[in-house]
Amino acid sequence: MPKKGPKKKSKKSVRRRSWNPEEYASKMAPIVARMVGLDILGLSDEQMEALLKDILIQIIGDRVTKPKPETLVNAIRRGQDKIYSIIASRLLDSMDPSSITPDQFEFILSYIGPFVIEYIDKLIDISKRLDPSRIDEIRHLWELAWSQRNGGPIGTCPRCGFKAVGPDGTCIVCGYVLSDKELKNSVDFEVKLNSFIQEASCEDLKRILNNPILYVNDYSVTITRTSPWDVEIHLNKDELEKVRTEYVKRCEKRRRETLAIQKSEDEIIKEIISKL
Ligand SMILES: [Zn+2]
Repeated sequence: MPKKGPKKKSKKSVRRRSWNPEEYASKMAPIVARMVGLDILGLSDEQMEALLKDILIQIIGDRVTKPKPETLVNAIRRGQDKIYSIIASRLLDSMDPSSITPDQFEFILSYIGPFVIEYIDKLIDISKRLDPSRIDEIRHLWELAWSQRNGGPIGTCPRCGFKAVGPDGTCIVCGYVLSDKELKNSVDFEVKLNSFIQEASCEDLKRILNNPILYVNDYSVTITRTSPWDVEIHLNKDELEKVRTEYVKRCEKRRRETLAIQKSEDEIIKEIISKL
């Protein structure tokens, strides 16, 4: 007797689509763009196709029947933040910064998200041309994007105001090389050093006196590097003096006390021996 179920199923799975997803995505791109309101970007159908086509192809996936425009729109709305951040970055890639319109700039600022880091130079240029007052918002987006990554610049640049000081003391946004004093200010070194000194062990204080280098992260200073973004700081005379003072106050005293206890023990032992 022939088996029923499996045969039917395998017949179903060989159904092939009789349409080309790429062609369909090209045709649908401008239509879907209008439906989701992307016509605000003022792009031609060809430009819209370049921005959206491969996203639509991914949404279509291996569907056998052509998805309705509404289905494509719903899929875009479900993944809107991610899809629009890709579109925002593609706009910046494909267009000259000098031709970005205020509406396009608005869209980019709303959706660029994590890509702000890669496109920071273009964004600053466009902001200078269209609306310099938006630079604060770009600074905020920049910090937000870094906070979502593992690590990032520690200090704020005194020239451009971005939290963008690299581990070598150069601003990764504007290229400014910070002086020693500026670098220490930018990473809040004094405050972090003071609390470090209070909490450090005698051993650590001694290590700094022998090798006066510390690494600054967002929250504190450490003796060894904890991330590639940590800023290396060489202690100056005054800072080293602070360490020395604390060491003498807290550690030398203890050392002397320990020695004194040892000494008295030695004396007691001597006494005992002499009485034997
Ligand atoms: Zn800078």
